[in-house]
Amino acid sequence: MKLGNISIFNSDLTKNKLNWYIRVADNLAPAKFLIARSIKCDFKLNMKIDLLWSIFDESMLTLNNIRKNIDEFDYKSVTPNLLDLCVEISKRILSNCNFCHWNCGVDRMSGEMGVCKLDSDSRVSSFFHHNGEELVFRGKNGSGTIFFTSCNMRCVFCQNGDISTDSRNGDVIGADQLASIIKLLRFEGVHNINFVGGDPIVHLHTIIDGISRLNNTDLSNTEIEEIINLKADYFINYSLNYDCNYISEFNVPMLWNSNFYMSADAFRLLSVLMDVWLPDLKFYDEKCSRRLAKVSKYFEVVSSFLIKLYEIQENFVIRHLILPEHIDCCTIPILEWINEYIPDTLVNIMTQFHPDMRTDPKNILYNEKYADLCRKLSKDEINRVFEIADQLNINYKDLII
Ligand code: SF4
Repeated sequence: MKLGNISIFNSDLTKNKLNWYIRVADNLAPAKFLIARSIKCDFKLNMKIDLLWSIFDESMLTLNNIRKNIDEFDYKSVTPNLLDLCVEISKRILSNCNFCHWNCGVDRMSGEMGVCKLDSDSRVSSFFHHNGEELVFRGKNGSGTIFFTSCNMRCVFCQNGDISTDSRNGDVIGADQLASIIKLLRFEGVHNINFVGGDPIVHLHTIIDGISRLNNTDLSNTEIEEIINLKADYFINYSLNYDCNYISEFNVPMLWNSNFYMSADAFRLLSVLMDVWLPDLKFYDEKCSRRLAKVSKYFEVVSSFLIKLYEIQENFVIRHLILPEHIDCCTIPILEWINEYIPDTLVNIMTQFHPDMRTDPKNILYNEKYADLCRKLSKDEINRVFEIADQLNINYKDLII
């Protein structure tokens, strides 16, 4: 079933806010990575990074112009192209890593590790058709979700702690295997490729390289055998016949599902590739983000990228997880900020918090200094937040279905 035919998109606001994503999902428009592959970039491997970035900036203007006149787009692959340039820049960054706001500056290519405890290898814990995401993302056929290991934040209540805190979880995958995973999921009909973790930002080099290797050829049995042990829903017999071509090119929208605690350079690279974004916005108060996620300047960093997404009119949905005892210091100021700075934005106000990791008294990692988070939300708390969201005209109702 086409994503655009789902009844939730009868709502004009939701449809307009996700218009690009819906069109790519239904192959009525090319994914950004296809446009990038059509933009010639005459760079050389011996060029300095500043020069590579200036070629990148010029090419971004071209990409944005093509998107504005997308119905006139005449796809033709060229080399070297903007995707190739993104691969090269991401490798340079890996040697002095600043993918995220930690800006560790370690040479991951040489085996050094920063806060995420990863060298240049990327690991995937599992992938599958996710039918628990928002309806706009799961649609009828699921969201093609790829769980990468490790994270750059240390949320004490993490609900994916086995993946985010164990950098050795899962299997090492290279760019070719990642391309095979993406193709398998799309051939099986998913509406998008959902990069998540942990946090996917710490694997940006592999993700860009994997996307650059997507092509319109079938998957061989050997390629499927290399990845099938990571497929959590391998026992479901999906057919591989989904029509996923734009013109005659493999096509699928890319979804960035992340904490957004990234660097400005990473955001620039992702802007070439992501068709739709799913940022978390957890904390407003600096004291809360330092205490509960061990990061500084959280709101300043994340909100700056949300404002950029809004200004450049990208398709995105914010996720805000309500935390017990943090409604007045975080939830309400976040909703007020959205209303003031990025009005009309789609927001999923999430009520499913449950104690986990260091906030769960039954967990060996429990620490009573996080006792404020050792319970679920009450009905009164949830109702209070929704009342305030209504007063502030927050667009959340289509996202909580
Ligand atoms: S991804 Fe972030 S945490 Fe990991 S090494 Fe790079 S800057 Fe540090």
